[in-house]
Amino acid sequence: MSTAVLTGSCPECETDLTVPEMVEGETLSCPECMLTLRIEGITDGRLTLEMVEVQLRDWGQ
Ligand SMILES: [Zn+2]
Repeated sequence: MSTAVLTGSCPECETDLTVPEMVEGETLSCPECMLTLRIEGITDGRLTLEMVEVQLRDWGQ
């Protein structure tokens, strides 16, 4: 038997996440804190998630 879903937890709010099969490098949004997370690695169906730093640049002066 194989599972078609992957699980992980949000590094920010620790919400358990279940997502369809995805690949490393894809991004998803945490439904709880709305952060953008990137899949850094997948081990035995378990996701390693990393927060994507959103660079807010102020180009004005
Ligand atoms: Zn979260």
